[in-house]
Amino acid sequence: MSTHHASTDDTNSRPKAVLFCPDCGHESSLSGDWIVRESAGRTTHTCPVCDATVEDRRRPEPALAP
Ligand SMILES: [Zn+2]
Repeated sequence: MSTHHASTDDTNSRPKAVLFCPDCGHESSLSGDWIVRESAGRTTHTCPVCDATVEDRRRPEPALAP
């Protein structure tokens, strides 16, 4: 007896942004357990395990209105 179950796990692939800590290898999604700090115009993700800065993303400044 073979029950064929249609698996539906390859059509629903969402682009998941995953960050890796270069120091300890901790991995989590962008909205995972990173310590996110936002300061003027930039977002910094800090590893909750080893406290390393994983990604320092600068937000492009919006075009200045005339
Ligand atoms: Zn780390």
